[in-house]
Amino acid sequence: MSAATIALLGQPNSGKSTLFNALTGLRQHVGNWPGKTVEKKEGSFSYQGKEYDVADLPGSYSMSANSDEEVITRDFIASGKADVVCILADSSQLERSLFMLADYAGISVPCFLILNMADVAKDQGKKIDAPAIEKKLGIPVMLFSATDKNAYDQFYKTMERAIKEKSMLNVSALEQEYEKVDGYNEICGALADTVIPGYTPMWLTVKAMEQDKVVTAKLRNTLPDSIQKTVETLVKQSQGAIATGGCKFAWIDSILDGAVSESRTKVRLGKLDRIYTHKFWGKAAVILTVVLGLLASFIPALPVMALGMGVDAVNGMIRTALTDAGLSAFLTGLLCDVLIQGLSYVLKMLGFVFGVTLVFGLLEEVGIMARISYVFDNTMGKLGLQGKSVMPFLVSFGCTMGGAAGARVIDNWGQKVLTIALAWAVPCGAAWAIIPMLSTVFFGAGAPLVIVAILLVMILHMWITAKIFGRTLVKTQDRCGMIMELPPYHRPKWGALLRYVLGRTKDTFFRVTKVVLLVCAVFWLLSYSFIPGSDPILYRFGKAIEPVTRVFGMGWQLFMAFIASSVGKEGALGVISALFTDGSFYNAFSDAMSGAGTAANLSELLLANVTKPEALAFIFAITFNMPCVVALAATYQETASAKWTARIAVYYTVGALLISTIVYHIGLLIW
Ligand code: GDP
Ligand code: MG
Repeated sequence: MSAATIALLGQPNSGKSTLFNALTGLRQHVGNWPGKTVEKKEGSFSYQGKEYDVADLPGSYSMSANSDEEVITRDFIASGKADVVCILADSSQLERSLFMLADYAGISVPCFLILNMADVAKDQGKKIDAPAIEKKLGIPVMLFSATDKNAYDQFYKTMERAIKEKSMLNVSALEQEYEKVDGYNEICGALADTVIPGYTPMWLTVKAMEQDKVVTAKLRNTLPDSIQKTVETLVKQSQGAIATGGCKFAWIDSILDGAVSESRTKVRLGKLDRIYTHKFWGKAAVILTVVLGLLASFIPALPVMALGMGVDAVNGMIRTALTDAGLSAFLTGLLCDVLIQGLSYVLKMLGFVFGVTLVFGLLEEVGIMARISYVFDNTMGKLGLQGKSVMPFLVSFGCTMGGAAGARVIDNWGQKVLTIALAWAVPCGAAWAIIPMLSTVFFGAGAPLVIVAILLVMILHMWITAKIFGRTLVKTQDRCGMIMELPPYHRPKWGALLRYVLGRTKDTFFRVTKVVLLVCAVFWLLSYSFIPGSDPILYRFGKAIEPVTRVFGMGWQLFMAFIASSVGKEGALGVISALFTDGSFYNAFSDAMSGAGTAANLSELLLANVTKPEALAFIFAITFNMPCVVALAATYQETASAKWTARIAVYYTVGALLISTIVYHIGLLIW
């Protein structure tokens, strides 16, 4: 039983997640709000022997009903699920970020105010008098840095005080502002006894005047007809949101008056920002930054990757030892081909995830991610995404799992899922290892043309995918430009960052391993001959549907390789070479996982067995097939939705077959 539930409320980038992560550590659960594509983050922590629950509410700019995020946030608070609301504001831009507090005024749930980013405000030369603000607001107010470990003691004390005192925001000064607005008193009078639980008449009046959809509908259901008509007319005659917004800002000014002093002049745009915001060089600078970051992420990645290769190396020894010890082929296979090989596969990619999470977490923390967003917001906006999405796309040229993990910095759930869905279309490192090789074998000097064609299809694929999934995932109001300004650069907090990255990597490891082992085991069982000499299920299936796969331009061997490429692309060549050499089906799987075992005469084998149109179709099919089982698992982890992960996987499998069919038939026309 928890002592109290605390809800974190604040505009995007006010530091909610930083505070939430620091409070809960790994005692947190990320899911979705029922029936909504909005991320739900809950956790718990203990302080002085008492348990507290905490909810990181989705980012929103106000308490209006402009988006799912805002409605969810508002309903959660009004429902009384939280005992106290912790409102966060950004000390480095108080005028703007206190708007949330002004909009909150009139909700009857106790609250306290955290003026976060105190360190940044201090660097800007701002002095903020929190006690003076506290006096005017009537709730506990404290200067705070969510990234500073030592500030938390004070935070807990402030929180306890708010819980104990059930401190309510003093809104009389704000109400006086509203009373000056035409129509306010009349509407408020008409609403006086219609209480929608959780909201005061003042709050309801303001929202009615702002023509808030949800409030308007609720009032329509609650008010007697005659009063409802009067209210509607009064609202129409009022100046609505312009007037109420003016009141809120006037109130904020009066709160800050005398409480904030600025000693230094405003910070000028730094040298770096002059490059990032440059019309021509901005995009190039961002891409260069991301590519350098990508390269840099290999440094922390290598030791983990080496560990994976080490596991590979001992696998052979273990296999020999087990066989010598007389263990059955079935158990040896299950142990070596599924368990150990799957583990090594995960480790090799996990290194990359660790590197990417660290490097891009660092870029986010120092403030460079905000520049990336800023520069690419317009371009990505056309796909319904944020500027930050460009980063996972670029990372995916290296590894789709890294791209999916990189999408973590996107704070809107729908945009995150869409970003990952699009990142799948970007051919990863393994695909780039296969494409040039196959293209050269079959098309010689024409190989570069194949690569260009693949890049063009990639762009088209992303565009179409954005159209197909975008409608459900990204609401129209999220599509319009965000309120965006370049935040100041921060010094990184290495301790917090490392703890976060290690925690996430550990989490990824366990979740991903589970999925990978499951998928590999199923695949392995399907391709195992239980009775020596008999054909495994997958083989019989492949043979049986060969008439169908011919339409895609694939005989059964190529189609098996296509299926194997869903597990891991690097394995596709191994499968082909095993199947064309001796048709040994069993080796095909273990080859698919290790990427080893390509015959020395692979080129001749291919040329003897595969026609040009088939080869072209196959190249496209494996390039645009789902990236690999590890990417699948990472997608599941990041989206926290089995439904969407499955949807994306099926979409890509079907899409790849469709593309290969088209390519094959074009090929037949040419050759
Ligand atoms: P949210 O959108 O409200 O969840 O905000 P985040 O917790 O994601 O924080 C946005 C950015 O501000 C991150 O890069 C944080 O590391 C950084 N940040 C948060 N709190 C502080 C702080 O007190 N001081 C500094 N310097 N940076 C902070
Ligand atoms: Mg957040």
